Amino acid sequence: MGKDAAIIGLGKSGLAAKRLLELDGYAPIDIYDDNRAIMGAHPIANYKDDYEITVVSPGVNPKQIKVPISNRSSELELAYKYKKSNAKILGVTGTNGKSTVCHLTTQILNAMGKSAISVGNFGYPFADAVLDKPADYYVLELSSFQIELLRKGQFSLDGLVFTNLTEDHLDRYGSYECYANAKFGVFDFLAKDSMLAIPDNRKIKEMADAAGITNRLVVDISSLYVYKGSDVKALNFGTFSLDLAKYRLVGLHNAENLAFSLVLIASVTSLVGDVTELINVKELTGLPHRLELVRQRNEVSWINDSKSTTVESTSKAISSCHNSTLLLLGGKDKQLNYGELAGDIEPSSVKLVIVFGEAREAIAEHLKGGGLKKPLFVVNKLKDAVSLAAQKAQKGWNVLLSPACSSYDEFKNFEERGVRFAQYIDGLSAI
Ligand code: ADP
Repeated sequence: MGKDAAIIGLGKSGLAAKRLLELDGYAPIDIYDDNRAIMGAHPIANYKDDYEITVVSPGVNPKQIKVPISNRSSELELAYKYKKSNAKILGVTGTNGKSTVCHLTTQILNAMGKSAISVGNFGYPFADAVLDKPADYYVLELSSFQIELLRKGQFSLDGLVFTNLTEDHLDRYGSYECYANAKFGVFDFLAKDSMLAIPDNRKIKEMADAAGITNRLVVDISSLYVYKGSDVKALNFGTFSLDLAKYRLVGLHNAENLAFSLVLIASVTSLVGDVTELINVKELTGLPHRLELVRQRNEVSWINDSKSTTVESTSKAISSCHNSTLLLLGGKDKQLNYGELAGDIEPSSVKLVIVFGEAREAIAEHLKGGGLKKPLFVVNKLKDAVSLAAQKAQKGWNVLLSPACSSYDEFKNFEERGVRFAQYIDGLSAI
């Protein structure tokens, strides 16, 4: 008679967890998921807490599960037990920049000749990686939903970056405090003496102190810069430094992301002297859908920042654009305070704003309430926004899609939104 298990939520993460449960001899494995297309799945409301182990997926809102789960586990815990014992897990969390920091960290470790892979919320389940692509370094992107599922003693990190913390996911958490507390839960999982890198932020420092973390490094990008003339030319970390001239990712936040990656790497391996060549700075790439120049048409640059689903990330995108810019905002309303963006837009190179999607009226109202004076147009869908932008943008301008909203009102995810953005541009009639 096998050991019985349940999985609640059979997305990518749940499927990967199932592979590890099967290897561990669990059978039967009952699946609970409200997606009717999954064969044999039971509705989540029918779950009863009488399994030896229950894996809960991060996409499942705990409020959906009525019965307390005594033997709860998660995909990350299962993968943690299965990985090579000397492999290191480098965690990356925060509101924005997680995927970029993971991607940079993995590229740099690979350039240094080490086997590393980005996993977790990044898009590739940790459990799949331990089975199919065993590595010496797992660079693990952690969402607040994944952190909430971890249990003390069952999981630990060998280094952690906490990029920043701003309002997000109010639709699931209800308040900023609840969201912040879910994120800060990660501090309980940093191995003793392992390094935590944080920004210069009072609340984050306080929470790290409260968790008793002693090896804490504040990454203050402005104090790392080396200027030549008025331009930032290098980053100097004391024991090591690098030339930034050939770094291709735009915006100061991306210099900060690089700094986070480097201190994380330096905490587990050696970085000394000028590391520009060692880490191959000129080959480092960003990820698609993050401030990505996707099309140039009639001397207008179309920039896809579809991954920007928070006010903070859109604020960074605005400050990264130096040419005249037409900004496209909108999508599914996450009930954020969009009015804050008016303060970024007014002094910036943004010339006019087009709002679209389900949140369009809310955004327009917040922006006006926040003091927006620049021209604002309200349209229905992203496609309409692209058409209007093509009419309004002048030669030499950028059109920036940095929506500050999630995509689910019109699209499956932010990737689809970004792909469709480029398709809509291609579909514009030739002028
Ligand atoms: P995450 O995985 O945390 O969502 P990404 O690296 O995918 O972060 O970037 C998401 C959005 O945030 C993009 O619009 C990107 O340009 C922006 N961004 C990237 N790094 C930062 C940062 N350090 N601070 C604020 N915004 C950032």
